[in-house]
Amino acid sequence: MHAVHLLGLIFVLLAVSVEAQQNAVQSTNNQPAWMASSVSKMETELTAKYGEPQKTRVQRGLQQVSEFWRAEDGDAASFEEFVRNNLAGDQASLDTMFKRYEHLLEQLDGHMHEINREFRQQQDLDAGPVLSFDEIFAGYDPSAHIIDDFFANKLAFIVLLNFPLTTLDQRLHEGPNWSRRQWAEVRLGQRFDKRIPADVNLAIAQAGADADAYIAQYNIWMYHLLDNQGQRLFPPKMRLLSHWNLRDEIKSDYADPQNGLAKQRMIQQVMERIVTQTIPQAVVDNPQLDWNPYTNEIRPAAAKDSDAGGKPQSATNAREPDTRYAKLLGTFLASRKADVYSPTAPTLIARRFDEDREIPEARVQAMLEQVVSSPLVAQTAKLIQSRLGRPLEPFDIWYNGFRPGSKYSEAELDAIVAKKYPTAEAYQKDIPNLLMKLGFSSERAQYVANNIVVDPARGSGHAMGAEMRTEKAHLRTRVEKTGMNYKGFNIAVHEMGHNVEQTFSLNDVDYTLLKGVPNTAFTEALAFVFQGRDLQLLGLPAPDEKAEAEKTLNDFWGTYEISGVALVDMEVWHWMYDHPQATPAQLNQATVQTAKDVWNRYYAPVFGKKDVVLLGVYSHMIDSFLYLPDYPIGHMIAFQIEEQMKKAGSIGPEFERMAKMGRVTPDLWMENATGKPVGPEALLQATQRALTPVTAARPHGVAGGD
Ligand SMILES: [Zn+2]
Repeated sequence: MHAVHLLGLIFVLLAVSVEAQQNAVQSTNNQPAWMASSVSKMETELTAKYGEPQKTRVQRGLQQVSEFWRAEDGDAASFEEFVRNNLAGDQASLDTMFKRYEHLLEQLDGHMHEINREFRQQQDLDAGPVLSFDEIFAGYDPSAHIIDDFFANKLAFIVLLNFPLTTLDQRLHEGPNWSRRQWAEVRLGQRFDKRIPADVNLAIAQAGADADAYIAQYNIWMYHLLDNQGQRLFPPKMRLLSHWNLRDEIKSDYADPQNGLAKQRMIQQVMERIVTQTIPQAVVDNPQLDWNPYTNEIRPAAAKDSDAGGKPQSATNAREPDTRYAKLLGTFLASRKADVYSPTAPTLIARRFDEDREIPEARVQAMLEQVVSSPLVAQTAKLIQSRLGRPLEPFDIWYNGFRPGSKYSEAELDAIVAKKYPTAEAYQKDIPNLLMKLGFSSERAQYVANNIVVDPARGSGHAMGAEMRTEKAHLRTRVEKTGMNYKGFNIAVHEMGHNVEQTFSLNDVDYTLLKGVPNTAFTEALAFVFQGRDLQLLGLPAPDEKAEAEKTLNDFWGTYEISGVALVDMEVWHWMYDHPQATPAQLNQATVQTAKDVWNRYYAPVFGKKDVVLLGVYSHMIDSFLYLPDYPIGHMIAFQIEEQMKKAGSIGPEFERMAKMGRVTPDLWMENATGKPVGPEALLQATQRALTPVTAARPHGVAGGD
């Protein structure tokens, strides 16, 4: 077991102070009774052995190991022997340890990913039928138990003994002064900054799966909605999943000049009944009942469009008994079990913001509020109102009339693309050429192209990067028998953007422990840079100023909508942490109140109506563990990166420079990329600029309303 036995003389102190570290790691869970005296004994012994200058580091290592050591890891004698044998006591020993861990973890990640990719191949690629065992292979994750294994065999404890654990506060405030090596050490430490017992992980997975299953069957049978005149507004067999399909139906109803408005109002009413849980339980996913969502009357379906669903005669209009909030509460109570095992981020809220996003919650909140309270909202709303020719209604938070438009029809574009790319191989061959059109030198274009493999996708397409340098990134693209179509090309260009980022951020980053980007919003933003230039890549003119402006306003209005949704999500998680004993009924009340409060503050002044609860309808709120703030942050990041690309002119070298930064904090990455931390200013400035050409020009191509 003594894989690493190191002796040494001189040691250089790391930048992280013991004091800050002790603040970071303060929780205690099931620590053996002998721990305190063993720690103090070993501190004296090791400081005597390696010298006073290393005292701070010895203290930090002991503190970190003791925090995670449990009785089953060994008694006092084994703890002391472990520490004695595994402290890298000088810089040379530490360098050796660092390099080997970095190399071996890259191999581990890379090969695990390789197995995953191969196991998913039949499901992901257009390669014949998927058999039942293929699905089991695809669902298997060989890396699921690595963290447990590394604590059991003590490889994790060796990291904790020798490398720093950090808080977000340290990464934000000290991080800009760290060397790249220090950053790599910090990421190494973070791999082992929590040791969540298997039963807790299982409970979290179970609560998530329960909530997912609840959401996945939450359909509304639209043909069975009756208005106050007893009329059916929607066609037979239309089954819409809450909230995605309901929201998208509101969007497409702008194109229905006859019944669009009545349909949109009715869907809003349905959504409100879901949020408040005044929806009759019996109508959920049930085509055997007709329902008037205004009066809440139900009756056996007078017209039949499906055999699905329960028996109508047994149904009453008893409301859904707060199941929605029971599921949400379930995810909270399960998440909370992990708190005590996660000393540097002891709540789900902290894990989301401090670890996953690495932007403090207070800053995210301020950025969202900056968007929803921007004076540009009222200006954009005025424009929408004039296009619709009526006062805004609450569901207009999903207005979809900002459309870039195009000089070419989809059919014309399909023909151009199909001729150029009859097969996936034709696209693969053209990658260097496409990259050169984006400003990469021929040498860089060839280099990146050599690291991308194009595969025929079963679905619409996706990008799958590698996790070690000897592997390649995979671009999965859909090519019909008649050749690639425009939609497929547009997606392929997006996925190629991911692959280019994945190649630079793995193969050209200085430490593989820093591979990747800060979070998914960054890789998406970089992929959008490519996707937004797909017409130029076909040799066609770029979208004009007007089309760009329409796209910007669409993004701004979407960010305004989703920022409010995210604010509700955040507030509700705080409420749950403040009221851990709450019942589903109390959580219902609190969520409804929060949705109203956020609406009244930022939306009521624009829409002229108070106490609307629509911001509480997103299904992510129930099953996605505080995920929603990722969406508005993603929009902001995309605008920042796009603005920098425009400033730089040539995309290639700028893209490579950005992507090589690797996985540091979002702010540090963005400072390096654009000179500014993450924030909404680029989005707001672009919106300001977009309002000018759009309001000056006559509206065109707007579906419905005008
Ligand atoms: Zn993407």
